[in-house]
Amino acid sequence: MYIPYGRQCIEEDDIEAVVEVLCSDYVTTGPAVAEFEKSVAEYTGAKYAVAVSNGTAALHAACLAAGIKEGDEVITTPITFAASANCVLYCGAKPVFADIEPDTYNIDPTKIEEKITSKTKAIIAVHFTGQPCKMDEIHEIAKKHNLFVIEDAAHALGAEYKGKKVGSISDMTTFSFHPVKHITTGEGGMVTTNSKELYDRLVLFRSHGITRDERFLEKNEGGWYYEQLDLGYNYRITDIQCALGISQMKKLDRFVERRREIAKRYNEAFSDVKGIQIPKQEADCHNSWHLYVIQVLDRDRKEVFDTLRSKNIGVNVHYIPVYKHPYYQKNGYERVCCKNAEQYYANAISIPMYPLLSKEEQEYVIETIKEVLV
Ligand SMILES: *Cc1c(COP(=O)(O)O)cnc(C)c1O
Repeated sequence: MYIPYGRQCIEEDDIEAVVEVLCSDYVTTGPAVAEFEKSVAEYTGAKYAVAVSNGTAALHAACLAAGIKEGDEVITTPITFAASANCVLYCGAKPVFADIEPDTYNIDPTKIEEKITSKTKAIIAVHFTGQPCKMDEIHEIAKKHNLFVIEDAAHALGAEYKGKKVGSISDMTTFSFHPVKHITTGEGGMVTTNSKELYDRLVLFRSHGITRDERFLEKNEGGWYYEQLDLGYNYRITDIQCALGISQMKKLDRFVERRREIAKRYNEAFSDVKGIQIPKQEADCHNSWHLYVIQVLDRDRKEVFDTLRSKNIGVNVHYIPVYKHPYYQKNGYERVCCKNAEQYYANAISIPMYPLLSKEEQEYVIETIKEVLV
């Protein structure tokens, strides 16, 4: 039996919810989209939410709404999925990488400050593994330099920063509903915001830049009439997916609770194992534990990784520093070096973390890792 590092949890009532939509009048943009948006907005405490086709589209739409364009720079972390930086390239702008903290693995606010130039327009903070970044410090820097703050919360649905749910804190926050994330819609994404202006722009970019909204039309020639006001995309999500999302949102607290139990057990099991570094947790935050990463300190990471895979444990590595990918190396990033990120990458192993991981499976993972490391 193979234990993956992450997987979805889809139950009978989730399936029924999807089937119900399949038999209804709407399969794409219908009532389920608005209901899913409302559910995520209420949960996170954000005023507005815009559902889109995936987490990458959410990031792209957020960058567009922030007005990121050619000549701009946007600061983000190298320890993330490539999409957190690619969305900046989509806008013709330049991602700039600021190094991580060696203990939380999140972007280091003091390193952000060092990267700011007259071209800097925004910061994309990624809550790596579900642990919120130091948002007060990041907001202070943003305020001082007049920058947008976008949170990539693909790992952090259900996480809390100083008593507030992630999703209600910055200009915009993006989520992903890919099957390994906290809830799934197959593919899916969301942007939350408290700004009506940003909300209107997000809605426009989601659907070709086209609107029928009277408030925005330059003129109105009749009931058929619409206008394209900007260059948008088809980033719409279907009602089929949103029905699954609505059903999954009802289970989110249970899923996050189970992830926290699993993390607690890993923390206990590994806290005094020589050669393993467990992730430091910020005191004023609640991690929602998308991933659990151990650092293997005095052993060859590849050897440990291969041994665990051979014992049917689906370990993984999150992430290769984004600028190390050939595309980035060939496009001006060959001299970039974030020391902490590279050190982290050399030792990191993600171990199984998902609600359906059983107690027995987790004990097998723990025992096997201890065995391999002694
Ligand atoms: C999953 C993920 C994304 C992209 O989400 P998709 O829905 O797969 O497009 C972006 N950023 C991070 C940090 C992610 O983990």
